[in-house]
Amino acid sequence: MAHPCPRCEHESLRPLRVSDVEVETCPRCHGLWLEQGKLDALLERHLQAKLAGARPAAGAPLACSDCGVALQLASAFVYEGDVYCARCRPPGAVQRTRP
Ligand SMILES: [Zn+2]
Ligand SMILES: [Zn+2]
Repeated sequence: MAHPCPRCEHESLRPLRVSDVEVETCPRCHGLWLEQGKLDALLERHLQAKLAGARPAAGAPLACSDCGVALQLASAFVYEGDVYCARCRPPGAVQRTRP
């Protein structure tokens, strides 16, 4: 049932799941073997994950809860524990002042 490794000949490939796509890997040479079409599926998932992670200003100390724009402390507005930029601030939000 398991395919032999094309590189090592006598080694059987083991199934492995990568991002919900089933691939086969060789325990000896650690080669990764994909059936036709699976590489495309894998790349697609990878791209989707990349796009999903790209949106908010990741790593920024402060980001607007609404639009996600990175904020400086001096220009952040605080409302009910969330921070907003000047454009998205809800009525009643107070400007964050330096500690
Ligand atoms: Zn191998
Ligand atoms: Zn905003």
